[in-house]
Amino acid sequence: MKALPAIEGNHNLKNYEEAVQNFDWENVRKTFSWHKTGKVNLAYEAIDYHAENGKGEQVALYYSDARRDESYTFAEMKTFSNKAANVLKEANVKKGDRVFIFMPRTPELYFTLLGAIKIGAIVGPLFEAFMEGAVRDRLEDSGAKVLITTPTLLERVPFDDLPDLETVLVADETYEDNGPFLQLNKRLQAAPSDVAIEWVDREDGLILHYTSGSTGKPKGVLHVHEAMVQHYHTAKVVLDLQPDDIYWCTADPGWVTGTSYGIFAPWLAGVTNVVRGGRFSPTDWYETIQRYKVTVWYSAPTAFRMLMSAGDELVKQYDLSSLRHVLSVGEPLNPEVVRWGVKVFDKRIHDTWWMTETGAQMICNYPAMEIRPGSMGKPIPGVEAAIIDDRGNELPPNRMGNLAIKKGWPAMMRAIWNNEAKYQSYFELDGWYVSGDSAYMDEDGYFWFQGRIDDVIMTAGERVGPFEVESKLVEHPAVAEAGVIGKPDPVRGEIIKAFIALRQGYEVTDELKEEIRQFVKTGLAAHAAPREMEFRKSLPKTRSGKIMRRVLKAWELDLPTGDLSTMED
Ligand code: ATP
Ligand code: MG
Repeated sequence: MKALPAIEGNHNLKNYEEAVQNFDWENVRKTFSWHKTGKVNLAYEAIDYHAENGKGEQVALYYSDARRDESYTFAEMKTFSNKAANVLKEANVKKGDRVFIFMPRTPELYFTLLGAIKIGAIVGPLFEAFMEGAVRDRLEDSGAKVLITTPTLLERVPFDDLPDLETVLVADETYEDNGPFLQLNKRLQAAPSDVAIEWVDREDGLILHYTSGSTGKPKGVLHVHEAMVQHYHTAKVVLDLQPDDIYWCTADPGWVTGTSYGIFAPWLAGVTNVVRGGRFSPTDWYETIQRYKVTVWYSAPTAFRMLMSAGDELVKQYDLSSLRHVLSVGEPLNPEVVRWGVKVFDKRIHDTWWMTETGAQMICNYPAMEIRPGSMGKPIPGVEAAIIDDRGNELPPNRMGNLAIKKGWPAMMRAIWNNEAKYQSYFELDGWYVSGDSAYMDEDGYFWFQGRIDDVIMTAGERVGPFEVESKLVEHPAVAEAGVIGKPDPVRGEIIKAFIALRQGYEVTDELKEEIRQFVKTGLAAHAAPREMEFRKSLPKTRSGKIMRRVLKAWELDLPTGDLSTMED
């Protein structure tokens, strides 16, 4: 697919090359109030600072779901997060304690998360769909002292097995206190609206995020307050947020996108943030954009593919003309999806690459830059990325290798909780952080994702990235989704096997199979065409929407499937 030209307009980042050359993180630090006062706390910068500096009456949060429809100004967010901080103080929470939040998106989730940060606690958000085993693993590993949850989810909290857990705050107006289980709502109401903020060191713990579990057991990734420097910087240069934007990030705070970009980045930038509760539904989603006149929208390939499947006719029933800037993260963004975005929204979807461990966006497409569909873009100003071999030598353009980052950026994880060896394993090559993803860089410095290192396929001496094959497959009109793995083969080393979910109205026939194979053969390469295909209703995915290739592989090879705590039903 052809490159798409830069978008004209008054963007925060006007000239990428110039911004890279002149960049200094210290200049970003200077924009924070703590640079003058020495008093650091991310929640203060995100909420109180705006409430006290001219934005008190501006809406900070629009919240809606099937039952609730609310909005909160920055001044109100300050009050409610202060109240939450006081409730947590009553529960004896001290600086450095872990406070976990296991509940669906509701305003209370945002109040308590910010409140916990205000008193220096380390917050741990857990996705509402976790079952008992997953909840136990994470609360046990983190040694959480307080948990905030709902009466329904309470059943999945094995309180008696968790000696560190002292208090459970239950968000429900009718809940009756019962020993260590306390009702949250009435305490929030009664709590004072002022709190003494705990001023912290920039290197103090902020949030503990367990990874998506696409490749194995989720790891507890620790981030610190200093991460706000990069959250703010990327809010400006990547999200391109401007004062009157209405911003919507569709991710749940149980995943890093839902906190770094669903909470921290927009509020550090002082922008109105939309949260839509409940599950994915194409009509709800389009309605949300129309109703709030969303201007900047951050979502994920899996959601865009589902919207594509819902059909273009549906899109036409809504007024989506407020959209100015659309972005994607979490999985490779297929060129076909970018093409669809141009067709139906008249907007290019901007891919961004980063991971739980990096804490913030790293390689991205910027509005004022030409985008090459299928490419993740270029490193943000302030970050240096390269493709290296297994000994740490930089590879020339167009060679597939390890995607690595020069060590040291503000949002970098500072630990894997209780697992120093795992933490060190990211840094085994001197000076580099090795991501575990494989990619190449073209002559012009654009990075192209190929797959997870472990997923790269070696077939008859050729290295094939599963993403290229999957992207070609979804270009075929019959294919809704595809997951590609290497299957051991005595002659070729591995052969390419594709798991395919067809679009509605298509049936598996030998002709269709052959047509799909030929489509990849002529569109990509003969050696990249799947030798085997298996058709399924849907593909195994994480709750954050990523295709779990390790599960496909385990099924194929009859191996144990490993940790499935993050898998969708
Ligand atoms: P786990 O580490 O537990 O196996 P995970 O890697 O899926 O799970 P995350 O940190 O949520 O957990 O996801 C980061 C990974 O997602 C990246 O390493 C990359 O493989 C993939 N990813 C994220 N953004 C993109 C993108 N824009 N293009 C391609 N891949 C992406
Ligand atoms: Mg990972």
